[in-house]
Amino acid sequence: MQNDQKQTPRRGVMLILSSPSGAGKTTLSRRLLDEVEDISLSVSATTRQPRKGEIEGIDYFFVDDDRFHQMVTSGAFLEHAKVFGNSYGTPAGPVHQELEEGRDVLFDIDWQGAQQMQKVAAADIVRVFILPPSLEELHSRLKGRGQDSDEVVEARMQKASSEISHWDAYDYVLVNDDVETCLAQLKHVLEAERMRLPRRIKSVGELAKSMMGDE
Ligand code: 5GP
Repeated sequence: MQNDQKQTPRRGVMLILSSPSGAGKTTLSRRLLDEVEDISLSVSATTRQPRKGEIEGIDYFFVDDDRFHQMVTSGAFLEHAKVFGNSYGTPAGPVHQELEEGRDVLFDIDWQGAQQMQKVAAADIVRVFILPPSLEELHSRLKGRGQDSDEVVEARMQKASSEISHWDAYDYVLVNDDVETCLAQLKHVLEAERMRLPRRIKSVGELAKSMMGDE
């Protein structure tokens, strides 16, 4: 994606992605981070155990309950929530500076996180929900991953329905039928959101004013 930041500085976008597990959110996030400039992933803290292959500081900051609680009480999180019995929180630390410097931050968080972010950062967030094309397709993707037992797949299907019930609290709902199409749509959303006037008010405003007459 073309970056016009050098000509027209802008404030960064807080891009929130939510979906039920198996809808392809992880693939979409990775592709977006690889293929688009000036966007980085917000790494959450969690009390869940690392899965095979997950790396501390890259996938999550893995912390115990006491440390998580300390982080909550010291105001280290922009939002935090319980998901599947584990605690997850979005560190506030680096976000402000990234936005100020015109870089976007991607948040892979659930509907509770999206709801809390609306309270603390309404002007900066863009909320995108990824829907699978059907529950049958979601089921076959979850089975096809071969990661989980039948019981876990069934639990994820239950959880999927409750996650999906929050679809209308988002700014965009994209259907991930074909990953390339969905990724292209996600890039278009980001590209357009980067150009919204409030994010470019200083630079575009100065330019417009310099072209205005005195009256
Ligand atoms: P997983 O444990 O499979 O990586 O993530 C489970 C769910 O927790 C996913 O829906 C993910 O989006 C969500 N999640 C991950 N980090 C956070 C966070 O910091 N805050 C909230 N609210 N949800 C999170």
